[in-house]
Amino acid sequence: MPHIIIAGGGVAGLEALLALRAMAGERVRLTLVAPDPDFTYKPLATAEPFGLGHAHSVPLTRFAEQARAELVIDAIAGLDTDDEGFIRVDDIGRVAGCERTWAAGDGVASPLKFGGVATHQARRIAAAIARSTGADAPDPGEPVLHGRLLTGNGSRRLRGRGDGEPAPLWWPAGKIAGLYLPRWLAEHGLAPRGQVEEPPDGLEIRRPLRAMRAAEARYLADLQRPTATR
Ligand SMILES: Cc1cc2nc3c(=O)[nH]c(=O)nc-3n(C[C@H](O)[C@H](O)[C@H](O)COP(=O)(O)OP(=O)(O)OC[C@H]3O[C@@H](n4cnc5c(N)ncnc54)[C@H](O)[C@@H]3O)c2cc1C
Repeated sequence: MPHIIIAGGGVAGLEALLALRAMAGERVRLTLVAPDPDFTYKPLATAEPFGLGHAHSVPLTRFAEQARAELVIDAIAGLDTDDEGFIRVDDIGRVAGCERTWAAGDGVASPLKFGGVATHQARRIAAAIARSTGADAPDPGEPVLHGRLLTGNGSRRLRGRGDGEPAPLWWPAGKIAGLYLPRWLAEHGLAPRGQVEEPPDGLEIRRPLRAMRAAEARYLADLQRPTATR
């Protein structure tokens, strides 16, 4: 039976852990390795001032029990990184120069990083691993950024004391888009349900993550130019 080791008990690691158990069933043995015994859902810290959430800490043992995984409190070292310290991966998240090592989330070289990208990258990797064990796990495809520019009469605003319209300005209400981790957090009362309706108005924007690379390169080049020539 393949033994899958997941390094990191954060957003990407936990989405991958729960996704792998759901997708591959009992075809895999799972071990979660993390230096910290707890997971803190930091995105909800920014919702606290508005009374729309609280950044709970959850012992990783709860996720390990749910996923029937062994938990090891430790750190893993040894992956090659680029000059800025980010892990180089290909389009499906396989680490450069490695056959059976994948990486997802804020630690990989990527034009944009946030929780929704991390969970998507993690699910894509989980699906690839699950398929390699014979499971029927379709590839969720490349990450596509979904945005909504709120305009005109439909714009919603939160005021400092949280006394604006009751619906949060951000979407989803749970802060991070994903399938397995956001659902688990909502089911255990640790985050608002993610599956609330999208804001109906405004301008919808969809951009593949890969299309952002050119924008990032331009921005970085701009930063390196002397101010007078910008
Ligand atoms: C205040 C705040 C608000 C945010 N709001 C949002 C939001 O509204 N929406 C959104 O989408 N995103 C938001 N984000 C960003 C989001 O939290 C990150 O993009 C996401 O957590 C990235 O997931 P990750 O798994 O890559 O990293 P993390 O969640 O940081 O997890 C990394 C894990 O790896 C572990 N680790 C580190 N080194 C090692 C090692 N050597 N071996 C093993 N394990 C290791 C760490 O202990 C940790 O458990 C917010 C972030 C912050 C801080």
